[in-house]
Amino acid sequence: MPVTPTVPAVPAQGRGFRAYTTKHLDQLIARAGLDAADRLAVRAVAAVLPFRTNEYVVESLIDWTAAPADPMYRLVFPQADMLAPDDIAPIADLISRGAAEREIQAAAHRVRMRLNPHPAGQLELNVPHLGDQPLPGMQHKYAETVLIFPKQGQTCHAYCTYCFRWAQFVGEPDLKMATDDMAQVTEYLRVHPEVTSVLVTGGDPMIMGAAVLRRYVEPLLGPGLEHIESVRIGTKSLGYWPQRFVSDPDADDTLRLFEQVTQAGKTLALMAHFSHPRELETPIVAEAVRRIRSAGAVIRTQAPLIRTINDDPFAWSSMWRTQARMGMVPYYMFVERDTGPQGYFAVPLADGVEIYRAAYSSVSGLCRTVRGPSMSATPGKVCVDGVVEVAGEQVFALHMIQARDPSLVGRPFFAKYDPDAVWLSDLQPAFASRFPFGPQPDEPPGLWSDELLVPAS
Ligand code: SF4
Repeated sequence: MPVTPTVPAVPAQGRGFRAYTTKHLDQLIARAGLDAADRLAVRAVAAVLPFRTNEYVVESLIDWTAAPADPMYRLVFPQADMLAPDDIAPIADLISRGAAEREIQAAAHRVRMRLNPHPAGQLELNVPHLGDQPLPGMQHKYAETVLIFPKQGQTCHAYCTYCFRWAQFVGEPDLKMATDDMAQVTEYLRVHPEVTSVLVTGGDPMIMGAAVLRRYVEPLLGPGLEHIESVRIGTKSLGYWPQRFVSDPDADDTLRLFEQVTQAGKTLALMAHFSHPRELETPIVAEAVRRIRSAGAVIRTQAPLIRTINDDPFAWSSMWRTQARMGMVPYYMFVERDTGPQGYFAVPLADGVEIYRAAYSSVSGLCRTVRGPSMSATPGKVCVDGVVEVAGEQVFALHMIQARDPSLVGRPFFAKYDPDAVWLSDLQPAFASRFPFGPQPDEPPGLWSDELLVPAS
């Protein structure tokens, strides 16, 4: 039965898109059968972490007969136990006493600061400079790739409960990274010929209308930037709002912009985030994929492995097969990052690699373009290859898919087996005193090293 909250959803100008926000939360979760105490706890969680969804997700993707256990419900609706009870109880108390929003936000802020809002040194390590001037809203972590965060692209059509960029959405200005200065971006790119790929990311850049998106993409096609071979757009709009490419008033203009990129001799790659097979089932997502591909763009797919949402091999093999059948390219299975509610959603690395292997071994070669499970950590993207026994010791075999130091890419190394490890920082080197990557500012001294970890003999 459709839900019609008494507070009207927020329409986006000229589109059919309707957002649901915290104003609508209580009424929406009542539909999942939560009692008053649980609803209060969910509202307290939503004071700390962002909440937003929309009519399409609510009416076309969530199976309300299975909520609150339904994976698509869990993908967008906060869970009462996502954060520590000691963090949530005081906020729930403030909400129930009708405290001022300012007071609730102050309490929420204190919890946020304990949730590692910017993992992998994003703020300190990856901001590039032009001369002495830092360029906020850009990141340059790997030599060949620059990320830009468009100012108007820092929201999404819905927010994932596990979002690793949640800090972007909670209205704390000092946590935001965004730019609208494309002159500065292109000036930087002109003097960095090693950059071959620009990733436009967010939030979700596809939240921007075509005219605004054009202001960020078109300058990348200009003179002096012939070394930019691909423009990537990171987006979950195919999952959360495929209308963006089909029936929104500027859907056609968007596809023309994609064509313009490909006609300029560059690849336009949509890095599409799909968390669960159900996101691929609606007729409108099939039509959106068809239209995007007909504009000459490539769609590569990725998602993190998330407990209670997609932590079973069938979810992944089913996604990869459907994606390949629709003409998309499976690209990454990520490990849930070390931020926000990681403790709630993380799958141990040992289990994750088994889920990956079981899914990977049941799909055809066309789907085996996928890589993972991969951790986007401070030193780079670390792939867990498996658990093996070496010299009588059970260890994780790992390699770096991408690294700040390119000489480390592809080199195998080992870590002691730990069934509970969920992130790189939980691992200890095996057969060496240190891991191969260099020390990073926020890490325990002596953990990382420039030395190779591969056993010397
Ligand atoms: S789509 Fe990406 S950026 Fe947006 S909420 Fe989900 S994980 Fe976060």
